[in-house]
Amino acid sequence: MSKSRELKYTCPYCGREFDITVYESVNTETDPDLRDACLSGDIFRHSCPHCHTDFMVQYPLVYADPKHKFVLWLSQGTGEEAAMRASARPLLKQGYRLRRCATVREFTEKIQIFEDGVSDIAVELAKYDSFIEFIDSRNGNPQDVTSVEYQNVSDGVMKINVRTDDKGLSFLIPLNLLEEEIRAESDRFEINEEDFPLINSDWIISLFMESSGQA
Ligand SMILES: [Zn+2]
Repeated sequence: MSKSRELKYTCPYCGREFDITVYESVNTETDPDLRDACLSGDIFRHSCPHCHTDFMVQYPLVYADPKHKFVLWLSQGTGEEAAMRASARPLLKQGYRLRRCATVREFTEKIQIFEDGVSDIAVELAKYDSFIEFIDSRNGNPQDVTSVEYQNVSDGVMKINVRTDDKGLSFLIPLNLLEEEIRAESDRFEINEEDFPLINSDWIISLFMESSGQA
């Protein structure tokens, strides 16, 4: 069920050509080993046989996980929206969650979040709250933050890591508080899954920018 193609690729370092395998779609039920390669990012890693440089190549990929019922579309969102939207309705009827991911990092994190059975809206809210708390109460400098990452959910508590170059801080946020906040402002957090929405840090920041602009 997974689909791949061979193509000639020009090495960005030495300019010579070689063949690479690019996956257009991955189905985790029929190809569980490809699920591992997606989660690790190895599916995007290639090595030039001429100059032996390793690098990442990101092509559009549709990732379907029938067991956990989600489809991720890794894409910059150019050109294929109409075709993706046409496929959305039957998937939504079967209870799938549909998302677009702009980067490999968003993509691998989203696999983890949905396999854990967690709402990615709650995750983005928790990441936003953790970032604000890091800046406000610990006198952190926003420029120093290199990443804000979902770690896991354990006993109803979500763990978020805020990292800087020299340290990392973990924030523990009860899942029921996040769910309450989302329920209380359900209009603000509403998404249209038919559009394969991007639910990432840009998205959550835009929600809060909008509301502070109105205040
Ligand atoms: Zn090369």
